[in-house]
Amino acid sequence: MDHFGFKKGEIYAEDLAVGEIAEQVGTPFYCYSTETLIRHYNVFCQAFTGHDFLLCYAVKANSNQAIIKTLADQGSGADVVSEGELRRALEAGISASKIVYSGVAKTEKEMAFALGQDIFQFNVESEPELIQLSRVATDMGKVAAISFRINPDVDAKTHAKISTGMSENKFGIPWTRAREIYADAAKLPGIRVQGVDLHIGSQLTDLEPFAEAFRRIVTLVEDLRSDGHDISVLDLGGGLGIPYDREETKPPLPLEYGEMVKSIVGHLGCRIIIEPGRLLVGNAGILVSKVIFVKQGEDRKFLIIDAAMNDLVRPSMYNAYHEIVAVRESDTPTVPYDVVGPVCETGDTFARGRQLPELNSGDLVVIRSAGAYGAVMSSTYNTRRLIPEVLVKGADYAITRARPDYEDIIGLDKIPQWLQ
Ligand SMILES: *Cc1c(COP(=O)(O)O)cnc(C)c1O
Repeated sequence: MDHFGFKKGEIYAEDLAVGEIAEQVGTPFYCYSTETLIRHYNVFCQAFTGHDFLLCYAVKANSNQAIIKTLADQGSGADVVSEGELRRALEAGISASKIVYSGVAKTEKEMAFALGQDIFQFNVESEPELIQLSRVATDMGKVAAISFRINPDVDAKTHAKISTGMSENKFGIPWTRAREIYADAAKLPGIRVQGVDLHIGSQLTDLEPFAEAFRRIVTLVEDLRSDGHDISVLDLGGGLGIPYDREETKPPLPLEYGEMVKSIVGHLGCRIIIEPGRLLVGNAGILVSKVIFVKQGEDRKFLIIDAAMNDLVRPSMYNAYHEIVAVRESDTPTVPYDVVGPVCETGDTFARGRQLPELNSGDLVVIRSAGAYGAVMSSTYNTRRLIPEVLVKGADYAITRARPDYEDIIGLDKIPQWLQ
């Protein structure tokens, strides 16, 4: 459920007309709903009440300070994948004791920074990483608390680019080799093993791949304990999907996910960590855009809008479906449009043959479910300025990232002395 709905014939974000914000901020822009964000956070927490549980928001889904701070104020931890994200999480007020650091290749410098902050856990993905982490920690007189990211070799049945838990993927340590590597880790001076971690992919719309992976992890934890390791943390990753197309997909609810998790791993008595990203922010954000032209092609109508693939890359990168809605309600019959942006690539297409009411230059449209992997993946391709981000709370809104000036972009380039 989200807080973007029709009131008085137009789309509102909570208690504000989206058209009103567009007038003041200019299009295109991202618009997030505080109420929706908090609701999503709370449903996850409710799904795990009674358990030693920590939600570590996967910051990479949307790393705006205002988004992280909203979740931090609710008590959220963070899952980060770079020093930059770690700095963002700390800056937004998330305590280091609630931060886990994932990612296939942390550099020495990144490790040292994270060790200096005393984060809760490193999720280690390879032997070379383990050895380097132990060395960096020892040099600093520290001990790194770790879980190994285990690759359980299950098919998450999601898009190939966001599937991470099969043996062919670059992530984690094969589950068949886990006992060996835990034994190695126990001998290293800079390492303290505390748990097991996994993350099998993103936008999963079925519980079965999760369940299959978690059952493998239970067996592994039992084996590791019998080998003498103290396993007290189970980090189950993120990946629960959202209904991009509300007619077609009905992914499991966080409550159902929680029940499944508890029934499979509950008896181990571990602290349970989950790292949702998309589910918290995806449907808490929309992209608001304006029609520039309607162009009649030979056999189709193009709706050319002022947002483009550089602002939201998911349709061109993952063939992702996003609902597109006209901001003003209309009773006119719908017509099929190819909804495209102004960037000079055919890939700059948001939807083909999408049924929308008759639209004209200047009309506003909303691309739904754009809160996750939207703004964070945007670029200035075609020297288009990054678009503003706006956070709504009730009848208030604030610009949480402003639209840069052209000088801010062009000024990053430097002319070499020989050209001056
Ligand atoms: C991307 C990622 C997540 C979040 O995935 P969602 O599908 O957005 O929930 C969690 N953990 C790790 C390690 C990730 O790489």
